[in-house]
Amino acid sequence: MSHRLVACEHCDYLHVEDDIPPGFVARCARCGSPLYQAQKGTVERPLAFAITALVLFLIANSFPILTFAMEGRTESNTLLSGVVTFWQEGFPFLAFMVALTSIAAPLMLIGAYIYVLMPLYFGFVVPGLRAVWRVLAVIRPWSMLDVFLIGLLVALTKLTDFADVIAGPAFYAVCLLIPATLLMSTTLDPRTIWRRLAPQNLRYATLEDLEELRANAGQTRATGWMTCDTCAFVVTDSAARETGGKCPRCGTHLHHRKAGGLSRAWALLVAAMVLYIPANIFPIMTITYLGRAESDTILSGVAVLMQSGEWPIAIVVFTASIVVPILKIVLLGWVYVATGLGLSGPLRQRTLVYRITELIGRWSMVDVFMVSILAALVKLGNIATVAPGFGAVAFCAVVILTMLSAMAFDPRLIWDRAGMQKEQGMSS
Ligand SMILES: [Zn+2]
Ligand SMILES: [Zn+2]
Repeated sequence: MSHRLVACEHCDYLHVEDDIPPGFVARCARCGSPLYQAQKGTVERPLAFAITALVLFLIANSFPILTFAMEGRTESNTLLSGVVTFWQEGFPFLAFMVALTSIAAPLMLIGAYIYVLMPLYFGFVVPGLRAVWRVLAVIRPWSMLDVFLIGLLVALTKLTDFADVIAGPAFYAVCLLIPATLLMSTTLDPRTIWRRLAPQNLRYATLEDLEELRANAGQTRATGWMTCDTCAFVVTDSAARETGGKCPRCGTHLHHRKAGGLSRAWALLVAAMVLYIPANIFPIMTITYLGRAESDTILSGVAVLMQSGEWPIAIVVFTASIVVPILKIVLLGWVYVATGLGLSGPLRQRTLVYRITELIGRWSMVDVFMVSILAALVKLGNIATVAPGFGAVAFCAVVILTMLSAMAFDPRLIWDRAGMQKEQGMSS
């Protein structure tokens, strides 16, 4: 094997690619983030899981999820009902977010896997494989069916207290869809697909290129080459000039660091902090039961679950809706402050904290999904209704803004800024 270079997506540390045993993950020597996995056989297994997921997705969207019976009346909901209800009740933002995260993004994710893996498996040619695989990286974080399932279980717990609820075929389809999409993603390292989609006679940057760059005086690591944000391909600046600043492997526009990294990340985080206040003050929903109206905020929703003795669900909701948003805002704030000040502190741990905030943020959508399910199901006129509240809009915005903030931040700045500080310190 040649001395191909691989850059860490989280700290930009360069490594020489090596053969690793199947099932193993190569990790960055500097920050510990995963670099690449051993090629796990063929595309056969992920493709099989993707097709299974598509069938389950179609079932999940064609049948009722829950059927709710009370006082001789019944009401059923499908995946789309929550979206329609939010729209009808004047909450277009919530309608859009629920449609994106529970229907559009999962479908696009599954569709992208099938569209790319099918031709690779059967060996035929279709256009736009690289564009589709590139879009996949963008939509992946917005696919939240797993979080939707938790929201569904919370809604179920709340409903069984005062009505009969029957799980429909779509409920079981959603339950099976989670492991199917999980297996689809975990049996395939997206980076191995980039190698297969690469143009023929693509030249990989090697150790020799790096040595040449280092030999040229004045060339620092950050200016001699770039790492593609999408496929992590290492491109020397001279090679990037030849392709007009685009990644020669996937076509993404290349840049040394995300534009406006720290200030954009801060702006989004501050907006999330501001909205966190109305998110907790205003009710996320109002339940009207036999003429008596009761509003629930995020916190009172947890309290109600505790009072009715639903401890496991109460702990899940408390963690997802209260602990995670606060933790995410505090941790991201700490990462940004430390990065802005160029603190050299524990950089490895700071990178890990950043990676954790990227993973946990989406779980806060549980309450938004719960409201979408309850509002769509409980529409029995004078007997019982659930109406969404402004708190749900603010809360959903907090989740989205913290996610966007983490995406806008370039974790490589953690290392850049600390290094800069050290150099300045040495020269003075
Ligand atoms: Zn690293
Ligand atoms: Zn690329």
